Amino acid sequence: MDLGISGKQAIVCASSKGLGLGCARALAEAGVNLVMNARTAGPLEASADAIRSEFGVDVVAVAADVTTQEGRSKILDAAGPADILVNNAGGPPPGKWSDWSRDDFIAAIDANMLAPIALMQASLPGMMERGWGRVVNITSQSVKAPIGVLGLSNTARTGLTGFVAGTSRQVAGSGVTINNLLPGIHATDRAISLDGGVVKARGITMEEAKAERCASIPAGRYGTIEEFGAACAFLCSTRAGFIVGQNILLDGGGTNATI
Ligand code: NAP
Repeated sequence: MDLGISGKQAIVCASSKGLGLGCARALAEAGVNLVMNARTAGPLEASADAIRSEFGVDVVAVAADVTTQEGRSKILDAAGPADILVNNAGGPPPGKWSDWSRDDFIAAIDANMLAPIALMQASLPGMMERGWGRVVNITSQSVKAPIGVLGLSNTARTGLTGFVAGTSRQVAGSGVTINNLLPGIHATDRAISLDGGVVKARGITMEEAKAERCASIPAGRYGTIEEFGAACAFLCSTRAGFIVGQNILLDGGGTNATI
């Protein structure tokens, strides 16, 4: 299927590895030019180089912290008028509901709610003026079904989801769609770190932690960044113009819900 977005310009935040990288690679495969971002320059440059040589698209790598205004300005300046925005950042640490301080909440809200909102506020007016745009926010299955130890994520991402629900319906008439992708467990460094937390808390091995998690997923495995990226690229395509304000789970059936 031709996604119809060859030659468009995308910003993909937090994309040197993991789910963001999966999205960047799938967009590049569809012919989209990229601004990629992460805080650490080395791995970011390596991923950008690989995409340039594999797909022949233009890639600008911006080493910056997306949770800061300065970082976001660098990313926006590098992209110029962007047609596609993929919002992403690192996830908050696990813990217990009673232990988190105001500062812990502010850090999570900055990364997983206010940073994507600020980038949408900066990008949406130009997209609407040009009559076409796509925004995909990487959130979490924790929006549909809370994950106890990830209360900071449950809280911040639900706030972002409310903003998207209202805003997506105000911009859709200008040819701009905003949707959220909700990952369940995917084979990335984030998953290794979450499994590492289970190993530490329960005194089991990494293999046992992974096997337990797989047993709770009807698909019986972790998702891949390629599967995740393909879903993102489709939402960013010309084919997906009637999908507005949706929260799409990619969780191998892990969330046990009818709708
Ligand atoms: P990952 O493999 O750890 O990759 C995170 C990426 O984000 C890296 O490129 C990292 O590079 C970059 N990054 C982190 N903080 C950043 C910041 N402040 N500014 C710019 N770049 C930043 O994580 P992932 O698994 O892809 O997860 C991506 C998001 O999905 C996270 O919010 C995570 O909580 C959520 N999620 C993941 C899963 C899963 O199973 N993997 C499930 C549900 C939700 P630097 O460290 O160099 O900045």
